[in-house]
Amino acid sequence: MHNNNKELTLSAPLSGPVLTLARVPDAVFAGGAMGDGIAIDPLNDTLHSPCAGVVIHVARTGHALTVRADNGAELLLHLGLDTVELQGDGFSVLVKEGARVSNGQPLLRYDVDKVGRRCKSLVSLLILTNGEDFQARPITLKNVKVGEPLLHIIARTPQAANTEERAGPEVRAQVRVAHRGGLHARPAALVRQTAQGFQSRSQLHFAGKSAPCNSLIGLMGLAVGEQDDVQVSCQGPDADAALQALIAALATALPQDRHAAVAPASHPVPKRPAEAGVLQGVCAAPGLVDGPLFKLNAISLPPDAGGHDPAGQRQAFDAALNEVRREIDGTLAQAKRLGNTDEEAIFAAHLALLEDPALLDAAAQAIDGGNAATHAWSQSIDAQCQVLQQTGSALLAERANDLRDLRQRVLRALLGETWHYDVPAGAIVAAHELTPSDLLQLSGQGVAGLCMAEGGATSHVAILARGKGLPCLVALGAALLDQEQGQAVVLDADGGRLELMPGAERLAQVGQIRQERQERRAAQQLRAHQPAATLDGVSIDVAANVASSAEAADALANGADGVGLLRTEFLFVDRHTAPTEEEQRAACQAVLDAMGDKPVIIRTIDVGGDKQLDYLPLPPEANPVLGLRGIRLSQARPEILDQQLRALLQTRPLERCRILLPMVTEVDELLHIRRRVDALCGELGIERRPEIGVMIEVPAAALQAEQLAEHADFLSIGTNDLSQYTLAMDRDHAGLAARVDALHPALLRLIAMTCAGAAVHERWVGVCGALASDPLATPVLVGLGVRELSVSPVQIGEIKDRVRQVHETECRRLAHGLLKLSSAAAVRHACHQHWPLR
Ligand code: PEP
Ligand code: MG
Repeated sequence: MHNNNKELTLSAPLSGPVLTLARVPDAVFAGGAMGDGIAIDPLNDTLHSPCAGVVIHVARTGHALTVRADNGAELLLHLGLDTVELQGDGFSVLVKEGARVSNGQPLLRYDVDKVGRRCKSLVSLLILTNGEDFQARPITLKNVKVGEPLLHIIARTPQAANTEERAGPEVRAQVRVAHRGGLHARPAALVRQTAQGFQSRSQLHFAGKSAPCNSLIGLMGLAVGEQDDVQVSCQGPDADAALQALIAALATALPQDRHAAVAPASHPVPKRPAEAGVLQGVCAAPGLVDGPLFKLNAISLPPDAGGHDPAGQRQAFDAALNEVRREIDGTLAQAKRLGNTDEEAIFAAHLALLEDPALLDAAAQAIDGGNAATHAWSQSIDAQCQVLQQTGSALLAERANDLRDLRQRVLRALLGETWHYDVPAGAIVAAHELTPSDLLQLSGQGVAGLCMAEGGATSHVAILARGKGLPCLVALGAALLDQEQGQAVVLDADGGRLELMPGAERLAQVGQIRQERQERRAAQQLRAHQPAATLDGVSIDVAANVASSAEAADALANGADGVGLLRTEFLFVDRHTAPTEEEQRAACQAVLDAMGDKPVIIRTIDVGGDKQLDYLPLPPEANPVLGLRGIRLSQARPEILDQQLRALLQTRPLERCRILLPMVTEVDELLHIRRRVDALCGELGIERRPEIGVMIEVPAAALQAEQLAEHADFLSIGTNDLSQYTLAMDRDHAGLAARVDALHPALLRLIAMTCAGAAVHERWVGVCGALASDPLATPVLVGLGVRELSVSPVQIGEIKDRVRQVHETECRRLAHGLLKLSSAAAVRHACHQHWPLR
């Protein structure tokens, strides 16, 4: 087949009717989660290679393989739906992994009767898995025979986009929009994405107005409602295929419109009795500081006299757009790493808006008319904000906030050196809501603390602030921004209070407390490398949660007794391609090496739900956190877990490597993975398999701790998810931030039950969720029977110190009394009474 190095025409691997992915009766493939591609309902029994290339993966169960074409495109060939469940029965793979194959070469034969009877459907897929580099464009949607042209694969290069030919007849169709709430941001993004998969130019027409399908703002600006009839028109070489795909995208409601249902900017702040001169908020990073309040303001531009050189302004504008795109890409990668899907969706929409022709064309026109790029951009944003606000839809009006956010970012990039926050060191910064990049810049300038009117305690900024030891309060409300610039304030993050009128006495008191804390920290660090035991001699290991070998080295330097949790899903978060077995082995080995002779608990990949990885696309979910995540991934993609286990089993010394399984809900899951590990040990000639532990992070696991402990070597409690699932409160919900508290009596009961169950089989229990890093909780956890606390590296000295202050017998007696209290707040209060924090 024709191959000009970047472009490639794939031939049909099977004979039969061709279907678009949207028509495949499987949410994973139909939603495009695995990538773009095409499907065939096969009439023959042999799957052929669609091009020349190398077989880079063969599924253990023989139902699928991946071929890398010579131009780099990676093509997954998947025979039938749910055929993984046949465990290889009825399939014979005719090639080996690593083999070079020619176009049309037979790859896989299957028993049509056997497979056909036992699987959900024989509909088979050809999926382009590295869609970030290539695009797939259907050539035909009719019947094909093996070897006939099926799909164009085109490299994604700016040139390819510019040289697209859009000649050809126009085709049109009417369709009823099925999306809940109409064409708001998410469905509009889906339509745009669909249109971009084709060469043809597509437009949507509604109520006398038209918008190009590649403009998010244009589409939203049409204000199409649910069940409205719209016209779609497509013109170009693949117009028919584009039209069909767009009809499907418009007429099929998204499984769940989470972002439509939630108004992002209105998080209720928990009501507490008002105190004069004090604003109440939620603690995002602890600490107590005082200083002048410094409000960050939006950029205001001086009037523009015009007469600028368009070429120079154009260049500056393009450079600024590129810079912002890079920044957002970085934020997006971090959001993925932290599993923050809301943040991810917002920044993905920002990226799409940044490419929007409606915005860019207006700005370009203004620049050509002699305006400064700063003003051209600003005006273009204002005009589009107006368009969105005039739609009368509250949902679309919300998007105007996103545009204003982009205005700031691009202006900041354009103003470059002349724009930066000039914040005095020691100031307490107040803002509506800070971005991660704001935070990094501000912490570099030595600010003392941060306050935000909005935001949540588990947001990205909050995590960064904690990591930097910067006290931070969120959700203080709009009154924060009414305060005077420069007024002296006290930020008591631990108490959730911003004191607006501290007297001289209070300021002196704060100064003294801070001095004492510094001295105490210095003393704690001195003893951080010694083991910790309670006053009555019970040893407690204080380990660290890490995400890389660099963090492990930091943990060891801070006195960690081991790694209590390596989140392996973070090791390769910035990658677009899956790590190989050897890359995974090397990354885990580096963590073991960084920890000297200490043990390292390595958790198998906990992806899915709210944590997504680019290289591991998973089905879109109606309820992501209740979906295919953690160990459940082995249900959908057994080969991924197998590969990771093989990598772990090849680290040395294996005695120091302990395997931890996330999101286990029943004993059979553990038994299944144990059998897999045993089998892999056999294959690799390993005589003693490493210890296997189970995360206790869903109530079902805590309730069955005794049964799990019978087959596990240790249990590790994930209080973050255990809180979320026990309290039915999203762990990232800003409005519930104050209530997602793992010291809730119900959580304490589950922890007590876990320790009691483990004790029956003499297994040890650790805590690796955030509660382990809370010094107020240390005596409670010790009292309930926890013997390892895995904390953030900077807190090792502090938590060891806390262990050394308490009697285990007394902790046990008092901790069990806390189970009967009425709320998390009551437990916190009692803890302060029993074991005051110094
Ligand atoms: C937890 O849920 O407490 C945990 C440690 O896992 P993660 O935060 O990675 O979900
Ligand atoms: Mg978890």
